[in-house]
Amino acid sequence: MNEYDSNRIYDLVSTIGYEKTDFKKKANCLVLNTCHIREKATEKVYDEVGRIKKEFRNSKKPLVIISGCVAQAESEEMLKREPFIDIVVGPQSYHKINDLILNYYRESKKINLTDFDTVNKFDKLESIGHSVNKTSSYITIQEGCDKFCNFCVVPYTRGPEYSRPFNQIINEAETLVNNGAKEIVLLGQNVNAYNFTNTKMNFRLSHLLIALNKIKKLERIRFTTSHPKDMSEDLIKCYSECTKLMPFLHLPIQSGSNKILKLMNRKHTREYYLSIIKKLKEINNKIKFSSDFIVGYPEETEDDFNETLDLVNLVGFINSYSFIFSPRPGTPAMEKKLNNKNQNKERLNKLQNLLSNIQIQENKKFENKHCEVLVENKITNQNKFFGRNKHMTPVIFTSNNSKIGSITNVKIESSNRNTLFGSEINNKIEAA
Ligand code: SAM
Ligand code: SF4
Repeated sequence: MNEYDSNRIYDLVSTIGYEKTDFKKKANCLVLNTCHIREKATEKVYDEVGRIKKEFRNSKKPLVIISGCVAQAESEEMLKREPFIDIVVGPQSYHKINDLILNYYRESKKINLTDFDTVNKFDKLESIGHSVNKTSSYITIQEGCDKFCNFCVVPYTRGPEYSRPFNQIINEAETLVNNGAKEIVLLGQNVNAYNFTNTKMNFRLSHLLIALNKIKKLERIRFTTSHPKDMSEDLIKCYSECTKLMPFLHLPIQSGSNKILKLMNRKHTREYYLSIIKKLKEINNKIKFSSDFIVGYPEETEDDFNETLDLVNLVGFINSYSFIFSPRPGTPAMEKKLNNKNQNKERLNKLQNLLSNIQIQENKKFENKHCEVLVENKITNQNKFFGRNKHMTPVIFTSNNSKIGSITNVKIESSNRNTLFGSEINNKIEAA
């Protein structure tokens, strides 16, 4: 979502004359779009500002803007603590960035804007063009969260759940497809909680998927990140009915232990999660999964952790994210007694080794088979291209003339944990 926001911030400032530069030292304005989800996020931002300060020691000070969730969480404090920072703007008010910049230059006064103004943000963004024309493009459809897991800052930094109007999203998708996008990835902190009502009807994520499936030049649809509780029947059905919806779902569980899930306030059990996986596999036998895990949550015992390992073995996730619990300011879990650090590290290693072994085995299954790859870019100075298969696994393949934005058949010859390697085959063969 930060990547989407960064692109949109650029789309906004480009209307008042700013241009991107690859040379930091040439910049007269730097925007640090920040994430607050884990560990020392705030300190990392101050460290980066410190580095910028050094780099510009002998040249004119650039305008320094901090946006994103650290800006939201720290707000006014940032301006007090680091005089090199000029503007602080939260993730729900960055649509006003041009006014903030112009006001700053007019009045030479530092500015902090951290309102939750989501409706106006998307209305404003609707009127601004997209400069990005990537084969795979993001669209934020939903923001914020009302679920309040005990470890998570999102409800405090991104604010309450908000779903964008249905037509606004479809229009944005059509614009991106006309710009050359072949894949749309719908984004939201709780993307499958999407819920928009107008005078005629109530729209859910399934309605969006069905509508996107009808866009002619669009080839692939994905969405992330989903909460298990919102995997409704209509959404599950889309995995058999929407031909462009890719058979891959990122569905975070966090822990395999019901005790820990309860302590986390996750609002789902291990059994419920597994029942969703089962239903999805029944409706589409090609579907594969990835997940997020938190290890070392306060009160996690060896037995609780083993339940997580057991669940990983049961589902066979093809790639996942795993983290040690990081106490976040303002969350209920912040107050809890932390588990032993070394034990947490050991558990993370154990989990990551297991996830990695499964990932290697899953990738091996593609070897000597053909798979359909959406070509995203050419690797510089080589006759090699990069793309992804239906399960989102990166594929690097040899080809003399592959076309960016096309779907091509690749014979997979080898693989490692993260990537499949192969060669493009010209004659169309039924792909795996
Ligand atoms: N809404 C999604 C869900 O509920 O599954 C997850 C979105 S959250 C922004 C992304 C991931 O960051 C979470 O799934 C969780 O694994 C991780 N995360 C969030 N807070 C964390 C914390 N305090 N410590 C460690 N990991 C955390
Ligand atoms: Fe954070 Fe996801 Fe829980 Fe919301 S549902 S509080 S975004 S982990």
